[in-house]
Amino acid sequence: MSNESTKIPQATAKRLPLYYRFLKNLHASGKQRVSSAELSEAVKVDSATIRRDFSYFGALGKKGYGYNVNYLLGFFRKTLDQDEVTKVALIGVGNLGTAFLNYNFLKNNNTKIEVAFDVSESRVGTSIGEVPVRHLDELEKLIDEHHIQVVILTVPSHAAQPITDRIVKSHVKGILNFTPARLTVPSHIRIHHIDLAVELQSLVYFLKHYPS
Ligand code: ATP
Repeated sequence: MSNESTKIPQATAKRLPLYYRFLKNLHASGKQRVSSAELSEAVKVDSATIRRDFSYFGALGKKGYGYNVNYLLGFFRKTLDQDEVTKVALIGVGNLGTAFLNYNFLKNNNTKIEVAFDVSESRVGTSIGEVPVRHLDELEKLIDEHHIQVVILTVPSHAAQPITDRIVKSHVKGILNFTPARLTVPSHIRIHHIDLAVELQSLVYFLKHYPS
């Protein structure tokens, strides 16, 4: 992200890609402006939060006019560095990893999985969704060669920390961790944890205890 965006609160920054995707669709359908109420309905974020978020972007909606779609798109493109493709590596080509390799991330984001890693003989040397699967022994070398900035971790939990310890010695900036392991990283590395089982359990809990 550019320096300009570093003052944006983290909660707001997390909503940026959501806004960006919706605005791109609006733009593609020829819309020039959008109200916070329309946005709110579409992205399921309350309109007060949207107005506050947008004020950080220097976008001040006008009463009876709403927000200028082009202005917002320009801002998001710049802030999210969407003009440049972010190169991603995936480690662990099991069920979840394979699904990610087959999913075309470039459709919605300028991110591309360049290379995948595994230790299983049956997977190393194959290609999935046009992404080559290489042996973990080549991790440091290939991360460097491909200028990888982000790593997706879909290995078994026990393998996650030792692999992370290797990744943090490279120029990788971020890790998206799909394993249940809570990982320790130095402060210059950004890590996001997504535990699908926990998310599902939490949804079921809310459905049971807070029925609407
Ligand atoms: P499947 O059992 O079909 O592979 P899964 O997603 O349930 O699917 P996991 O046991 O979670 O399998 O392993 C995910 C993938 O990670 C597998 O392809 C496995 O070969 C690979 N793997 C296991 N240990 C490592 C490691 N140390 N480094 C890289 N990949 C690993």
